[in-house]
Amino acid sequence: MGTATKRYLCAQCEMAEDKCECEKYCCLCQSQIDARLCQDGLYYCQPCREACDYKTQE
Ligand SMILES: [Zn+2]
Ligand SMILES: [Zn+2]
Repeated sequence: MGTATKRYLCAQCEMAEDKCECEKYCCLCQSQIDARLCQDGLYYCQPCREACDYKTQE
């Protein structure tokens, strides 16, 4: 702990992914499978993340 990593925040509730209670689904294809928060504060599924070259926080 104590590392200063920049945390991605949900664009809707401005909470980090682990605190976010919004419905998590891909903003591009609406898939709920493995939707993860990315740098622009939106959720993307794995195929869309790869297509857009977006990364999850880890
Ligand atoms: Zn949220
Ligand atoms: Zn998607």
